[in-house]
Amino acid sequence: MKYRKRNGKDTWHFCTNCQNWPTSDYDEREGKPTYGEFCNECLSKDANGTCTKKY
Ligand SMILES: [Zn+2]
Repeated sequence: MKYRKRNGKDTWHFCTNCQNWPTSDYDEREGKPTYGEFCNECLSKDANGTCTKKY
């Protein structure tokens, strides 16, 4: 699973359908990040089963 965060920010996104999913100027990594925070919208989408993930 891929995670993205905007450069200069500490919030990781993992749902491609998140309003704040970075599409430019971002870091992408595979696997769970070991630092920073997870986006609240991504977390709630995940809890609701509406999170579209990128593998
Ligand atoms: Zn997000």
